[in-house]
Amino acid sequence: SDYEADPADNTNINVVVRVRPLNSKEVKTGDEMITHFPGNGQIWLEPVTPKEKPKTFTYNVVFEPEASQEDVLNHSGVKRLIDMAIDGFSCTVFCYGQTGSGKTHTLTGPPHLFEKNPDPFASEHGLVFRSFLYLFDQIQNRNDFHFVLKASFLEIYNEKVIDLLNTSRKPLAVRWSKKSRGFFVENLFMVECEEFDDLLAVLEEGMRNRAVGRHNMNEYSSRSHTILTVHITSEQKASEQGVFISRHGKLNFVDLAGSEMTKKTHSEGKTLEEANNINKSLMVLGYCIASLSDLKKKSGHIPYRDSKLTKLLADSLAGNGVTLMIACISPAKSNMSETLNTLRYAARAK
Ligand code: ADP
Ligand code: MG
Repeated sequence: SDYEADPADNTNINVVVRVRPLNSKEVKTGDEMITHFPGNGQIWLEPVTPKEKPKTFTYNVVFEPEASQEDVLNHSGVKRLIDMAIDGFSCTVFCYGQTGSGKTHTLTGPPHLFEKNPDPFASEHGLVFRSFLYLFDQIQNRNDFHFVLKASFLEIYNEKVIDLLNTSRKPLAVRWSKKSRGFFVENLFMVECEEFDDLLAVLEEGMRNRAVGRHNMNEYSSRSHTILTVHITSEQKASEQGVFISRHGKLNFVDLAGSEMTKKTHSEGKTLEEANNINKSLMVLGYCIASLSDLKKKSGHIPYRDSKLTKLLADSLAGNGVTLMIACISPAKSNMSETLNTLRYAARAK
């Protein structure tokens, strides 16, 4: 295939960074760009004072502000994840970063794509749309297996799981399945998808339902996580030995709450419970990733059970699953401290 494979790695987590362009407000106020790209997966930030040394970080890939949505599809390693999900592995792509850093843009593209009559060939279509196209392209070329695809779309807000394909917004329970030895959401809608348009319809409906009744969508989306999952079941068509292989792969696309939330809530006069709930999934994800990438701890305790998000992503983070983290950052001087936090978090996950 024509994608760049990730370098051999002894963790299941690969990390890429995407830097958005300066926005019009930043340009207007004369905010400066402090990000520099010497190549080879490196990025460095200009120091605040000339005395300080520049801060340099290295990742698998760094996408510069000019990178297109198609570049992210082709060079992030997501195609390898899709191939693995087709082969029965649990795979997750998640976007991490402060509010306004480009997480939703990277995954789904700008909101106008989900209003009426979206342009099917728009260059702004995000990674989810492009991954769906690649996925169908790959399975249509497979004559050895018969595939059944189902999609679900949920949101975690305040540690409550809400089905984005069901307008009732009743919180659903996360349970452990002894049979499949994994966590699942009870009564979550699973939509069977025979073609690309069916998957696209799930994405569009979930995006619309997410926005319904939100007075301040930005404030809301900065506190919630969404998980769009494609469940891929495949049955071998013919076997010489009379043994038919059947596999169940999963592909999760996760748009996380704003990473600034872990600190902000402490200063907003929330009750402890509210603050804990808003942050819990994001904080526990950080603990899980840090302990997974610490090889010494790898055999030790990973706190998956401590949040809804990590329960649902456990099979991709551990075992024989694979995770791609896309760390999204702003290039602007005014966002430097959040950008540094994100780059450090991402460096820890590597
Ligand atoms: P987040 O989901 O992290 O809060 P968004 O994806 O909503 O951030 O991005 C904030 C704004 O920046 C949006 O208006 C979005 O269209 C724009 N933006 C983000 N990334 C890019 C990019 N790579 N190219 C162009 N515009 C971008
Ligand atoms: Mg967003």
